[in-house]
Amino acid sequence: MPENYDLHCHSTASDGALSPTALVQRAHEQGVTALALTDHDTVAGLDEARLAATAAGIHLIPGIELSTSWQNKCLHIVGLGIDPDYPPLREATQNLQIMRMERAEKIADKLEKKRIPGALEAVKKAAGEGMITRSHFADFLLSQFHVSTQQEAFDRYLGAGKSAFVATTWSDMALAINWITESGGVAVLAHPLRYNLTASWMKRLLAAFKEAGGLGIEVVTGRYNSDEIKTVAAYATRFELTGSVGSDFHNPSNQWIELGRLAPLPENIKPVWELFN
Ligand code: AMP
Ligand code: MN
Ligand code: MN
Ligand code: MN
Repeated sequence: MPENYDLHCHSTASDGALSPTALVQRAHEQGVTALALTDHDTVAGLDEARLAATAAGIHLIPGIELSTSWQNKCLHIVGLGIDPDYPPLREATQNLQIMRMERAEKIADKLEKKRIPGALEAVKKAAGEGMITRSHFADFLLSQFHVSTQQEAFDRYLGAGKSAFVATTWSDMALAINWITESGGVAVLAHPLRYNLTASWMKRLLAAFKEAGGLGIEVVTGRYNSDEIKTVAAYATRFELTGSVGSDFHNPSNQWIELGRLAPLPENIKPVWELFN
């Protein structure tokens, strides 16, 4: 039987709702046979996920989704098949955790100035040992009835340029690609259409990504329609990148995005998993 891949999802180690164990079990129930756990800037969920995957009888591909900066833009780079113990990668995640905590303090200050107190304590509690993300702030704003949807939290407070937005310089994109590659992994540009880039910026980005050693691009994600898949497939062909498929699953309460429920990779695109060893 061919594998059913889902190469992008989140657990409670970052902003996912399910523990690594529950996530792997759900993936198995949804017919996924090869799952990459790709939490934001952390590998902390991988040990637990590996145990659960062995128990469920599915393949776990150790992954990460690194927050990176390039030309003042924030880009997400997924690493697949990484060695989570590779020291430079470990060190990078530790630095990113500190950066995320400092950013969280600043976001909370901005909310406090808007007469919304208590955010820092709430997001720390919600994230636990995991990475604090803007999703945690969105959940807090929702729980306090300041907004009525997650989207509204981003539109009014947390999104770029909004009142509680804190501009952050993340890891340099080329450095991040190096950490992934040198740890034995494959660097993949996540959800390329979510950055609102013009075609000429996209081409500049893909040239820089490839130059730095990037090898794949997410051609199929949980949210793309067939036109979007065609658009990204054309970029993959033009820049000779392999194609990845990943749902970017976060939460079972999002009825639009489920683990493993993905369109097939277009036939002319070389699958990223052919690079896995
Ligand atoms: P961060 O990496 O802390 O900036 O948080 C980014 C996370 O927030 C993403 O991975 C998404 O899970 C979530 N997110 C970003 N933008 C939106 C949005 N417009 N609506 C809902 N969730 C979002
Ligand atoms: Mn997220
Ligand atoms: Mn992302
Ligand atoms: Mn993601």
